[in-house]
Amino acid sequence: MSSLYPLLVCMLVSGQPAVEADVVVRGATLYDGSGAAGVLGDVAIRGERIVAVGRFTLAGKPRILDGKGLAAAPGFIDLHTHSDRPLQKRDTRANLCYLHQGVTTVVTGNCGSGPVDVAEYFQTLERGKIGTNAIHQVPHNNVRERAMKNANRPPTDDELRQMEALVDRGMKDGAWGLSTGLIYNPGTYAKTAELIALARVAARHGGFYASHIRDEGTGVLGAINEALTIGREAGLPVHISHLKASGRRAWGMAADEIALIDKARKAGQAVSADQYPYIASSTSLKATLIPTSFREGSQKDYLSRLNDAEQLARLRPLVERDIKRHQGGKDIRIARYAPKPAWQGKDLAAIAALEKKPAADIVLDIESHGGAQVVIFSMNEEDVRLIMRQPFVATASDGASMLPSSDTVPHPRSYGCFPRKIGRYAIEDKILTLEQAIRSASGLPADILHLPERGYLKENYYADVVIFDPRTFRDTATFDKPHQYATGVRYLFVNGQLAIDDGKFTDVLAGKVLRHQSKMPDK
Ligand SMILES: [Zn+2]
Repeated sequence: MSSLYPLLVCMLVSGQPAVEADVVVRGATLYDGSGAAGVLGDVAIRGERIVAVGRFTLAGKPRILDGKGLAAAPGFIDLHTHSDRPLQKRDTRANLCYLHQGVTTVVTGNCGSGPVDVAEYFQTLERGKIGTNAIHQVPHNNVRERAMKNANRPPTDDELRQMEALVDRGMKDGAWGLSTGLIYNPGTYAKTAELIALARVAARHGGFYASHIRDEGTGVLGAINEALTIGREAGLPVHISHLKASGRRAWGMAADEIALIDKARKAGQAVSADQYPYIASSTSLKATLIPTSFREGSQKDYLSRLNDAEQLARLRPLVERDIKRHQGGKDIRIARYAPKPAWQGKDLAAIAALEKKPAADIVLDIESHGGAQVVIFSMNEEDVRLIMRQPFVATASDGASMLPSSDTVPHPRSYGCFPRKIGRYAIEDKILTLEQAIRSASGLPADILHLPERGYLKENYYADVVIFDPRTFRDTATFDKPHQYATGVRYLFVNGQLAIDDGKFTDVLAGKVLRHQSKMPDK
């Protein structure tokens, strides 16, 4: 058999017509996104499509890129970003911190937050051009805000109809699903019944339900169950965003979360999740330490509550209790707080010591001056690794397009999520195989989205392709120095155009808005 093999290959190759291409990557290890092991081969691209994968003969004189020692994979798909606004801005629309990670498609509208007018948002992106492809979800918080402001009560029938109409419009205009952020305002005031009603609208159009669930700490199993209930009742796939076991008291619960999701999957329910491979999360200080009952109404209402002695007497002990649970504030770092840039990068305990004030005073002071973005060291490494290995868990950053800056100290995930999982966890630490790590960033998220013609290295698919050096594909962004591009992406094709050529950004903005095809479009 082995002696016949070269002959067989030769016959197969010669039996096919020669391939006409613009560019060919030659002699790379090809990972097709299915989770199959890498095989040596070539990839040919013509126009915006992949025209051949594997072994084939070439016609004409295409540009040849030497793939020796490099890995070629489908461009990565980030299911969870907050790039809604950055993609609309001139300086961040290229999505450079993602291109350098090999990402070619990002999903926006996450955690229930983003533009409600999907058609208008898509037009803005198309007018300005973007560096990666973009996919959007209808964001529940903004939908609810339009219908009923920041009210802490169930909707009236009228308000619910208004919200249903907004979800319906968004789905007709090309959104891929409904997203919720149930720790945030005003979505946190929604009961399960409201979410089922709105998810039913997304279901009619063939969309999914993605959720930043109500509790990621000790109540996480109840919160996952709520999402599963919504999926079953509304009849649509459920996606759990940034799956984790958050807070020291919840450490070790990742195994229970996985068991619960596995059970639902075995029972036939469509359930998936995503994860960023870090032990810290990032969100607002408000969402982290201020109970939802103190957050209703307008910002003015909120500020007057913070200045009301009676209200403060109730709030303060709750804030103090939560600070204590975060190691006296050591686990909470300020990422962005414009009034006191010197506090950025420092934790609450350190700031309290510096200012000679209790940490709770620092928190209340920040909240009465517009609030801050924080990084929270809330997870343990074993849980992170266990979640990462699950076949239903996609890689997703929860970050946003940004440029290097000395003005803020954000979570490093916007720069490092994908190379961290692939380079550090798979290639270096072998926590999972390279092919599985690549699948979790390509074929799997495409399957979760039901995204046609992307996510796999396949003939006739769109040429979103990353070619990276496995020896150097690493995150360099750290919690102390987050504003650093990842290394190791040699070439990156977005819709057949080179966005990165020999490691450098080409200034080409080849991303497209990808519209979901509704099962019930406007006639
Ligand atoms: Zn979230």
